[in-house]
Amino acid sequence: MPKQQLRIEYLRLLERFHLTLPKCSNGERDDADIQIMLSEMDSAAKIEDTASIVPNLSADELRSLRTGTELQDVLDRYSEEIEQSMRREVPVYVAEFPTGEFNAMAYPVPAGTLILVNTGLMMLVYRVCKIVSQSINIAIMDAAGNPKHDPPFQETPYELVVEQLAECVLSYLHYGNPWTTPRNSAMSPAKSVIFGGIVQATEKFVLLHEYGHFFAGHFNTPKKMIHKTHVGAVNVIAKSYDEETRADLTACLLLVPSTPKVIDDHPKLFALHASVTGPFLFFALDELISKVTVEVLNLDCIPISPTHPPSSKRAQIVHYALKQHMPETAFDFAQSFLEHFEKLANDVVLFLRSKIKR
Ligand SMILES: [Zn+2]
Repeated sequence: MPKQQLRIEYLRLLERFHLTLPKCSNGERDDADIQIMLSEMDSAAKIEDTASIVPNLSADELRSLRTGTELQDVLDRYSEEIEQSMRREVPVYVAEFPTGEFNAMAYPVPAGTLILVNTGLMMLVYRVCKIVSQSINIAIMDAAGNPKHDPPFQETPYELVVEQLAECVLSYLHYGNPWTTPRNSAMSPAKSVIFGGIVQATEKFVLLHEYGHFFAGHFNTPKKMIHKTHVGAVNVIAKSYDEETRADLTACLLLVPSTPKVIDDHPKLFALHASVTGPFLFFALDELISKVTVEVLNLDCIPISPTHPPSSKRAQIVHYALKQHMPETAFDFAQSFLEHFEKLANDVVLFLRSKIKR
C-alpha cells in the first residue's frame, strides 16, 4: 500500500500549505475537442479520414474519454504506464501541485517521494499545443496514397496565432495558469489525434525525467534545498547539473521501450512522432517562458529550477540519447513542428516587447 500512504502524505502537504487545487480539470481541456470529433464521426464521408488515423477508436470509445477527469487522473495514468513498462511499482506518487513553475519537484516524505507537477504546466502545455497545432496543415493520404488536406477546418492566420500564444504565456506568468485567455475553437479529428498525442508525450516526459531521478538513485539523498514558489517555500530534494543530465538520459531510456518499433500503419507512425516531439516541445516552451520573464518582463526570478542545465543544452543531450535507439527519420515530424514553434516563439517575444514598450 505505499501509494495509498504516499497519497495521504500528499493530502497532508496540501493541507500544510493551505492549498486547494485550482479549478482545472482534464474535462475542461478536452471536452470540446472530443465533442467535435464525435460530430465529425457522424458524417460518413469524414469517417474515412479519421479512420485512417484512429482505426481502432470507435465512437463509444471516444465518448468514454469524456469523463471530465481531474488532472490527477491523467497523472495517475501516466505514472501507471511508466511503472508498468518498468514492471515494478515504486515508492513514488505523482500529484498535482500549483507551484506556478514550469517544472515538477521531488518532495521527500516518510513513505517515499512525492513528485509535484505544477497545475499550470499541464494547462499551458495543452493550450499551447492546441494553438500551435491549429496553425499547421496536416496532409492525410487517401486510399491511393495521395496527400489531401485535413478538410473542414481553416488554418488560423499566423498573426493571430502569435497573439494567442503571447496571451497564454502572459496569463500563465501572471496567474500561474493560461486559463484566463479565451478558448480556441475545436479541431478536426486528425489534428486532435496528433495534438492529443503531443500533449501527452510532453507531459509524460516531465514525469519520465522525475522517474529518471528515482531510477538513478537521486531521491536517496539527504541533500535538500528550500525552493521558493508561488505557494510558499517548499523543502525539495536538491539535485546537481550532472544529476539533471543523468535524469534526462534515464528518461530517454524509459521512453524508448514505449515507442513502436515496427511502423506499418498511421497510428504507430503518429505515436512515434508524438513521443519524440514531446521532450523537445517541453524544452522549447521552457525557453520561451524564461525569455519572456527575463527579456520582456525584466523579472529576475526565472520560473524554472536553477539546478537544471539550460533547455537548449538538455534538448541536445536528449536528441543525442534518442538517436542511439531510433532512426533519424523518427525526428522528422518533431523537427518541422519545433521549427514552426521556434519561429512563433521568436515572434511572441517581439510582439510582447512591442506591446510592453508602449
Ligand atoms: Zn530534475
